Amino acid sequence: MCGLESALVSSHLGVCLNCIRENPREALEIALKAHKSSRAYYGLPPEPPRNPAGIKCNLCANECSIGEGETGFCGLRWVKDGRLESYVSSETSLLHYYLDPHVTNCCSAWFCPAGTGAGYPDYAYVRGPEYGYYNLALFFYGCNFDCLFCQNYSHKRIENAPVVTVRQLVDETLTNPRISCWCFFGGSPEPQLPFAVRASEEVLKELKSNRILRICFEWNGCGNKTLVKKAGELSFRSGGNIKFDLKAHSDLLNIVLTGVSNRRAYENFEMLFHEFYTERPGLPVLTATTLLVPGYVDSQEVEGIAKFLADLDPEIPYSLLIFHPDYMMRDLPITPVSQVVECYKAARRHLKNVNVGNLHLIGFSSMNGFREAYGLL
Ligand code: SF4
Ligand code: SF4
Ligand code: SF4
Ligand SMILES: [Zn+2]
Repeated sequence: MCGLESALVSSHLGVCLNCIRENPREALEIALKAHKSSRAYYGLPPEPPRNPAGIKCNLCANECSIGEGETGFCGLRWVKDGRLESYVSSETSLLHYYLDPHVTNCCSAWFCPAGTGAGYPDYAYVRGPEYGYYNLALFFYGCNFDCLFCQNYSHKRIENAPVVTVRQLVDETLTNPRISCWCFFGGSPEPQLPFAVRASEEVLKELKSNRILRICFEWNGCGNKTLVKKAGELSFRSGGNIKFDLKAHSDLLNIVLTGVSNRRAYENFEMLFHEFYTERPGLPVLTATTLLVPGYVDSQEVEGIAKFLADLDPEIPYSLLIFHPDYMMRDLPITPVSQVVECYKAARRHLKNVNVGNLHLIGFSSMNGFREAYGLL
């Protein structure tokens, strides 16, 4: 819009951060066209359907109202002959699962006992870093967001997705005592939460009482509130945690980057905080992450998110993730170091536990090395 030529402007998106903030209406129109064109490639609707005569799905905050012959935003549900049909149910899912050896690159491994093995003496979930054990990574297909920077966009290839049942996952886990956590991610788990909740309840019920199996979720956080609360309860009682990827503080910027609002994520975070976090503060059941999209997710956004978290509890762990070029934002660079440092400082003004993930992308192997290099100790 302003004619700015910069390596920090995505050519697919076609608007810079300044134009988004100065001219929101026009910028949004351009952004929604960008989402429409990339989604058409996967046969996905441009926006959540809002058909006044449609059938409503309320599994996520998009609350699609799907008319005859239309498909929901996630691509997993559609209406045919006046009925809401779906590829998935509470017994069947579209997901790919694999064993990921501990210590994993999980974005919570810097404070989770499976990663650190340290601390939290009051809880029965600790036995040292879990070398020799595994996370069962559960990669769901389909998503309720359309992030133009998606770092897992193979989830859009729904036609390639394996069909997996609750029984399969439970048996896989019961017969492999080396699995010490489940992590639902993808895609994002919201559109398949009935399955995730059902499978988790079943495995915890059938598990031997002395076995550790933490249930974790990594999501955009915009799920149905009742299901989100159930997921929170499962993470809480199993010693796991829930990772909210808070993409932006401003809803406008969130819609520009992901196609939809993320207000529900903040509501759900707050709800789970009051329900569970305060019951187990020494072993956080909640954490947040934010991807530092170059030129877009700046220190103003990070500061807003950090303040939101700190108003709940300044001890909540927060991880800033360095971006690598992917999906529709392949022309953007790795997050510039100056942006990483500014965002880290902004988060630290409010929060005690701030981590930077993917540090190797800017040449560091540890947080200490990063902090020392930029005088951030
Ligand atoms: S899960 Fe969400 S995105 Fe999918 S159809 Fe239901 S409301 Fe729409
Ligand atoms: S228990 Fe949860 S937080 Fe810890 S490594 Fe496994 S998935 Fe990550
Ligand atoms: S929420 Fe995650 S999986 Fe879904 S589009 Fe965004 S980055 Fe991709
Ligand atoms: Zn501009």
